[in-house]
Amino acid sequence: MTAFWTEPDFDEHEHVQLVHDRNSGLTAIIALHSTHLGPGAGGTRFWHYPDAKDAMRDALRLSRGMSYKNAMAGLPMGGGKAVILANADRAKSAEMLAAFGDAVNALGGKYVTAEDVGISEEDMVAVSQRTKFVSGLPAKDDDAAGGDPGPFTAMGIYHGIKAAVKYKLGKDSVSGVHVAIQGTGSVGSGVARLLANDGAKLTVSDIHADRAQALATELGGEFADPEAVMSIACDVFSPNALGAILDDEGIARLEAPIVAGGANNQLARQGHGAKLAERGILYAPDYVINAGGIISVAMEYLCTQHGESSDINEVRKRIAKIPGRLEKIWQESDQTGVSPDVVADRMAQKLIGR
Ligand code: NAD
Repeated sequence: MTAFWTEPDFDEHEHVQLVHDRNSGLTAIIALHSTHLGPGAGGTRFWHYPDAKDAMRDALRLSRGMSYKNAMAGLPMGGGKAVILANADRAKSAEMLAAFGDAVNALGGKYVTAEDVGISEEDMVAVSQRTKFVSGLPAKDDDAAGGDPGPFTAMGIYHGIKAAVKYKLGKDSVSGVHVAIQGTGSVGSGVARLLANDGAKLTVSDIHADRAQALATELGGEFADPEAVMSIACDVFSPNALGAILDDEGIARLEAPIVAGGANNQLARQGHGAKLAERGILYAPDYVINAGGIISVAMEYLCTQHGESSDINEVRKRIAKIPGRLEKIWQESDQTGVSPDVVADRMAQKLIGR
């Protein structure tokens, strides 16, 4: 049998913990990839995995992604991620969140958690009753960072899309630029609203069709069937649902010169970044463009730890640096012929000392 830690996804994780609490029924994985730059920070995902191996794979890939994301965002934080394995009914209880909070607390600050898919701000408030190593809590006032990181993630993606449109299409504005958005949850709907404000032409899609249809009506955009959204002829395909959608088949279907969106781990495996480049598609590495949320979460956490109030303008300033980082990656990619995902990985690895 192959040792677990020789699997590629393990990638020298510092710590991987399986958590089970019999009373609440909590089963979770906490993965800490690197604490080289600071405590491992990354959200908690609440998801039903028909095969538990997929939960472990998700936790490991997401955790490494957080190491790279935090390093590239210039944050003094390492990378970690937690996954709570939901049952088929996705039943969540106060006891389960409390047990999860205890598990985070037992790590003594090596891991700092926040929201991810399936976990709300209220859930994080519940977790914070058991541990102080939590962020993404409601903002204390309008000038403070905090709360759901989704809108901050959306802000960074919006800036990133504008940078990609300028870099690839030579346009200074997204007015009239056609963006197809997959996933209209917290991040996707935020991206859509910011782009609509600038006059972009939108097509939106979600497996919850009613959600996407309502957004299309609100913004004067089109609705697309989830099966069809990746093959729409448009200027930008923006994935904001789940990961691994850029596989051989997905890439072959794309009819957009740019892929720029917030979903984590969009490339099904290494090598798919090169496939996008071969097709002449400009790719915005996911963990670089989607760092807005963690920037907010980290600023909130760091300020709270020092007894200070975080400043939303500082968060915005840091998010506004995302386009510059993307441009640097694309330029290096153009100069070296190495795909943008690999350029970004190499930059991040250097920062975390690997
Ligand atoms: P969310 O749960 O609010 O929204 C996700 C949406 O995607 C839901 O509406 C869901 O119905 C939809 N969806 C799922 N599968 C789909 C499919 N196959 N086709 C179309 N739609 C589908 O989650 P979110 O917070 O908006 O996060 C979206 C993505 O962005 C995730 O990959 C997440 O890891 C990533 N991300 C989120 C943040 C954040 O701050 N929330 C930060 C960084 C990265």
